[in-house]
Amino acid sequence: MNLEEYKGVYVFAQQVDNELSSIAFELLGKAKELAAPLNTEVTAVLIGSGVKGLVDQLAEYGADKVIVVDDPELKEYRTEPYAHALSSVINEYKPEIVLVGATAIGRDLGPRVSARVATGLTADCTVLEIGDFPLNAIPGQEQKHNQLLMTRPAFGGNTIATIACPDNRPQMATVRPGVMQKIDPIAGAKAEVIEYNPGFIPDNKYVEILDIVKELSDTVDIMDAKILVSGGRGVGSAENFKMLQDLADVIGGTVSCSRAVVDNGWLPKELQVGQTGKTVRPNVYFAIGISGAIQHTAGMEESDIIIAINKDDSAPIFDVADYGIVGDLNKIVPKLTEELKKV
Ligand code: FAD
Repeated sequence: MNLEEYKGVYVFAQQVDNELSSIAFELLGKAKELAAPLNTEVTAVLIGSGVKGLVDQLAEYGADKVIVVDDPELKEYRTEPYAHALSSVINEYKPEIVLVGATAIGRDLGPRVSARVATGLTADCTVLEIGDFPLNAIPGQEQKHNQLLMTRPAFGGNTIATIACPDNRPQMATVRPGVMQKIDPIAGAKAEVIEYNPGFIPDNKYVEILDIVKELSDTVDIMDAKILVSGGRGVGSAENFKMLQDLADVIGGTVSCSRAVVDNGWLPKELQVGQTGKTVRPNVYFAIGISGAIQHTAGMEESDIIIAINKDDSAPIFDVADYGIVGDLNKIVPKLTEELKKV
């Protein structure tokens, strides 16, 4: 493989129902950062049906080029046709780096595409940078420059692994939603548009979609919430979460939780914060009856202000908290709610 042939940072621009997912903008923001030291361009790969209208938005968020694969067969996400489309784009254009969101779609698509184009994939990355590999070369050992260094939690979050793909291209990663920063959109920015037809074959279509049932929810997605009132095992029961909901109602917040709460069946998984839940970055994060395990803090430590309430003054949550209240949440939370009602 001639590594020199591979150029550019490519982003899979995920869309659902012809609406770009937030992860597409987050990946473009990171791609721009990675492209600078490599002196290369950022390309968005937009796959779907009737999606050309989304090109300008991708340009405004940092794409220099957009490769559009537009076909009625690509209306809804299905593994085979999408994997065929993305791997065909990679084989044709030979990108140096390919980023895919670690969403339900991306977790399905990324590994399949990486296998098809015979390269490696680092899943669920939280940090991406350009650097030398191996990181700490021993004297005499060759260090390769300008490699994509892909960092992700490993062994249940107990260690952080930095992984590279120095001998193969493209370097591929799936990236956790909510971790990378979008750029401020540049109104009126334009991208070069390339329409690409990968030529579908009937054997692609192993799956037929009979019906799509959308989950209806009247709650704010915790990844979009400005204030989160998050509860842990210390809250004690599903019924006791009413106390946290009352506090959230008074301050315009949304209730979220730790994994222990989901495992106990007190709240649904979509409200879970952390390594195997969602990564959140609200203005204010209340951690109530949450111990602060590393797998939890991995998903919330970037919050602007963290307020912890815990009866154990040595709970690790206080290490990441800006404000801490030590005491029984059953007494503190109702009192706090009463006081905030007066404001
Ligand atoms: P606990 O650790 O049991 O803490 C409860 C806290 O409540 C304690 O600190 C206690 O002092 C306090 N408390 C009890 N009663 C009161 C009271 N009356 N008043 C005030 N304080 C009180 N966890 C996540 O949250 N998100 C994840 O995404 C996640 N992913 C994981 C992935 C892997 C691979 C693994 C191995 C684990 C993962 N975990 C995750 C689990 C994580 O390790 C912890 O077990 C979990 O976060 C603990 O939840 P908790 O803090 O609610 O419960």
